[in-house]
Amino acid sequence: MMRRTKVVTCCCVTLAWLVAISCFAQNTIPKTYEKVKVAEGVYAFIAEEPKTEIVSGNSVAVIGDDGVLVVDTMHFPSLTRRMIADIKQLTDKPVRYVVNTHWHPDHLMGNGEYKQAFPDVVILSTPSTREQMESQVPTTYIRDTIAQIPAYVKILQEHLDTGKKKDGSPLRPVDLQHYQDLIEESKFFLPELQQAKYTPPNQTFDQSITVYLGKRQVNVMFLGRGNTAGDAVIYVPDAKTLMTGDLVVSPTPYAFGSFLTEWVETLKKLEALGATTIVPGHGDVQHDTSYIEELISLLQSTTSQVQQAFAQGLSLDDTRKKVDLSSFRRQMAGDSDKWNEVFHTAYEVPAVERAYREAKEGKLNDEN
Ligand SMILES: [Zn+2]
Repeated sequence: MMRRTKVVTCCCVTLAWLVAISCFAQNTIPKTYEKVKVAEGVYAFIAEEPKTEIVSGNSVAVIGDDGVLVVDTMHFPSLTRRMIADIKQLTDKPVRYVVNTHWHPDHLMGNGEYKQAFPDVVILSTPSTREQMESQVPTTYIRDTIAQIPAYVKILQEHLDTGKKKDGSPLRPVDLQHYQDLIEESKFFLPELQQAKYTPPNQTFDQSITVYLGKRQVNVMFLGRGNTAGDAVIYVPDAKTLMTGDLVVSPTPYAFGSFLTEWVETLKKLEALGATTIVPGHGDVQHDTSYIEELISLLQSTTSQVQQAFAQGLSLDDTRKKVDLSSFRRQMAGDSDKWNEVFHTAYEVPAVERAYREAKEGKLNDEN
């Protein structure tokens, strides 16, 4: 069903989606996160497992002697404000840096909250991330999504009222629940979008920048393209702790607009950093590189199967039928219907298309 309703996916930027509801003055279902101490002075804020496609990325606070560096600022400003309050409980030092790992809105809608709370904050990203953010987020994302939400929710409500899908078939219990969840979460989401203070990075870096929070060193790096054209990763050497953005997303990856072949090389560089604690863009904290290795195998299998199909002259549609990623899907999604569906819609569908275009056109220069 998620497949058919073309709704939000956090990172999905084919934003024809989104949702609905007529007039919601206030947030009714606050989303939440779990605060996890992952190392001395390093706290991860792990977004709760989403019920729908309206998700938030994780965030991390790295606390040094004279200031704090925050990685990503989440999707919902009300949650970001709660996180800032949490950080103030942990330290009286100011947030001096925010890093946006990439330009997808579920990782940066809280930037304005940091700017308001800490006016001198430096917001860092790669040039590509800033450029994409500027061209997409205020318009295609915030403005258009706010405009589309009421009609989208109306349609969902009509389906619930008639008990039928668009094609006239009856809604299954799982569809009913999903539509209800989408309506409820949209009620929460609309005012979040309306109150978001869009704030782009005010400093960019090409390859790397080293930040000192007093004695504590933090390395902010671009290791190559992957999930997007400008993914930044953040490494705290004294804690062997790595923040990956959406280069690593668990339990199943996202591949909208991604660069499959280069992603493998970037993940190998990530693995070589020697981190013992890894905070992914979405999902739980990891303590070894086994999931990164799984991702590398998945990406390699996807590109090699697609390249073979292309070499045999198959169309994209026929390539989709031929590519078999079921063993990876089982390994990552297990028995969960939801995660099997997410694997299909958020990884398999866009990944096969991107790999097919790479086979046909060579290196890609867009994230469409
Ligand atoms: Zn994301």
